[in-house]
Amino acid sequence: MSRISYVNGRYIPHPEAAIHIEDRGYQFADGVYEICGVFEGRLFDESAHIDRLERSLGELRMSMPLGRCALSVVLREVVRRNRIRDGIVYIQMTRGTAPRNHLFPPAGTSMSVVVMAWRQDMEKMEENAANGVKVKTLPDIRWGRCDIKSTSLLPNVLAKQAASDAGAYEAWLVDENGFVTEGSSSNAWIVNKQGQLITRQLNEQILPGITRGVVLELAGNYGLDVTERAFSVKEAQDAQEAFMTAATAFVTPVIQIDDKLIGNGRPGSIALDLRKAYQKAARATA
Ligand code: PMP
Repeated sequence: MSRISYVNGRYIPHPEAAIHIEDRGYQFADGVYEICGVFEGRLFDESAHIDRLERSLGELRMSMPLGRCALSVVLREVVRRNRIRDGIVYIQMTRGTAPRNHLFPPAGTSMSVVVMAWRQDMEKMEENAANGVKVKTLPDIRWGRCDIKSTSLLPNVLAKQAASDAGAYEAWLVDENGFVTEGSSSNAWIVNKQGQLITRQLNEQILPGITRGVVLELAGNYGLDVTERAFSVKEAQDAQEAFMTAATAFVTPVIQIDDKLIGNGRPGSIALDLRKAYQKAARATA
């Protein structure tokens, strides 16, 4: 079955789906994106993802180029046409195509909208969760507005590649004071020896992960002691458990940070319980 993607109002065979070379996304990374999980053919937490998309656009002085209902129809249509049962739907919106100039394009320039979808390898994801993954720490060299889901991901790309080259699955980025901000494409969590669940507080240094929000709520419902604050690499390495969250990874246990095994070097029980709870919530409410 051939893949279909949406580009500026049209559903197009994926190999031919294209954007102009003077699109500002291509020229300047002048755009934002969203990634929403699909479970059993339905989108999970769609409205939270669209809220974040609208906010990211607003922070960059753009507004939604189509209404929320129209966008929702497009997302469903792309999922349907690609027969995605468990996977991802990806949205990208840019300031449009215009002669290359750092200044914003003339008023009335149409924004570009792309939607595509793909299957997730659930078996591989379950294997990662069952075995746990390794993380490599690297300096966080990103800009001052990491709360915006900008397509400008070069520091994240370099960090993820460096982690992979070192045999790790994810990079945990570290601020100038030695505190973990987040992963290259995920939020970072630990459970300390006192059983406190800790993840960094929201501000302009991290992306407000939608999965992070869901997991915070689930943890609260389970009566876990949750704290939103920064933690150092040393505190993470001394923790009883560590894990990462993202729409593409759910809750994935971390068993090693640089050369240090976390806890007994096996996925932690709190992480695995939260993963199960997340998957249950996703399947129930999608
Ligand atoms: N932080 C960064 C830098 C990310 O790229 C992502 C994934 N988009 C996340 C956190 C997790 O966000 P979410 O739970 O919404 O997928």
